[in-house]
Amino acid sequence: MSQPRLKAPLWIACALLIALLIGLNALGNTATAQDVFPQTSTPRPSPTGNGGSATWTINEMTFASEYPNGGTFTLDAASSAGKITSALLFFQHNPSARNRAIAKLDETTGKWIAHGISGDTPQWVAVDYWWQLTDDAGNTYQTETKNDVYSDTRREWNHAESEDIEVYWEKQLPAEMGDTIIQAMRDRREWYYQNWGQLLKYRPRAIVYDGEDDTVINEWSPGSTGVNPGFGDRVATITGGFTTQKFGAFVGIYRSSRQDPIEFAYAIVLHEVGHLYQYQNGGSWGSEFWIQEGDAEFNANYKSASNFALNRASQIAQSGKLPAMAELGGLDAYNVGYSFFYWFTGKFGEDSHLKFAQLIGRGVRPRDAFQQISGQAFPELEGTFRLWLGASSGDIPTKVPEPTMMMFPSPTFPPTKTPKP
Ligand SMILES: [Zn+2]
Repeated sequence: MSQPRLKAPLWIACALLIALLIGLNALGNTATAQDVFPQTSTPRPSPTGNGGSATWTINEMTFASEYPNGGTFTLDAASSAGKITSALLFFQHNPSARNRAIAKLDETTGKWIAHGISGDTPQWVAVDYWWQLTDDAGNTYQTETKNDVYSDTRREWNHAESEDIEVYWEKQLPAEMGDTIIQAMRDRREWYYQNWGQLLKYRPRAIVYDGEDDTVINEWSPGSTGVNPGFGDRVATITGGFTTQKFGAFVGIYRSSRQDPIEFAYAIVLHEVGHLYQYQNGGSWGSEFWIQEGDAEFNANYKSASNFALNRASQIAQSGKLPAMAELGGLDAYNVGYSFFYWFTGKFGEDSHLKFAQLIGRGVRPRDAFQQISGQAFPELEGTFRLWLGASSGDIPTKVPEPTMMMFPSPTFPPTKTPKP
């Protein structure tokens, strides 16, 4: 179906209302909330054909967090066939990024000791670990996986969890933070399922820091709460959150003077979770910044942020200053990128995000995926989108897109309080 062209703020509110109604219809004829169950974890399969001819005994297998200085893994094990000659430790914070560390034998205790976890790791990420052992008769053995956590024993934190998410937040932040994030994730579960085809295969973690007293986050990520100055006609931004693929978690930076927990949960948290879905889905989400961030914004669920994005994109287009999509940077990449996904899914069907995600997951380049879904070459789509935003012409400046880093800052919105959704 077609949507009204965005000419004035009033139109935007109407356009958004139409989108919400489309969303409600979609719920009626596909999966219902009862059908969609998040996975709390994906257990690694038990090793098979394991241990050779020896019988292996594990007396002790522990992890001790020494946040922010990593942690110590200790193993006390024996093989019936001979002396253990090597011990290799594996650990991971999510199901897809595996780390390893070589252990040393402590001659006095007879235990294997390995140090792991890099200094740029936030507290409270999962630490799932196992060992691979070899004895001097040539047998090898892989232990079962143990699940632990990179705990912060230096101070008290708040913690809450549901089937959708685990939340850790600094003690001085609002007490309702956990429940609000849990509710936002529950409200969005169905949408994630509809738009990605499956839920995350692990339970993500939100680790929320105080953006106004950055003592704690500075322990492992100095300077992350700083303000990024705007340039040109771009809006100055502050980092609302970020994630990298290896954590299975994302970092939220909460500023009590600018946000309330509802805005934070529905705008920032769900945006970051969108990136986790991108990672799980593979493919080249990061090939263009506006796709990576516009898509993450599309995963958020905060009406005033969506309105802001549509307004802003429309303003830039109408002012004649909208660059080619590939050239979008800063907050404009979020706003125009969101607007593109909003427009695209409105025009080519409520399942077009799902189709897009599945094509990307199969290795199709994003522009080719848009083309396969719409039957139109991307420049044609981009031109139509520009006109829809209110640009006087569908002509686009052409330049080669630059690759972007897979480190995701989130926007926050102008420093005024926005109404609750
Ligand atoms: Zn982002």
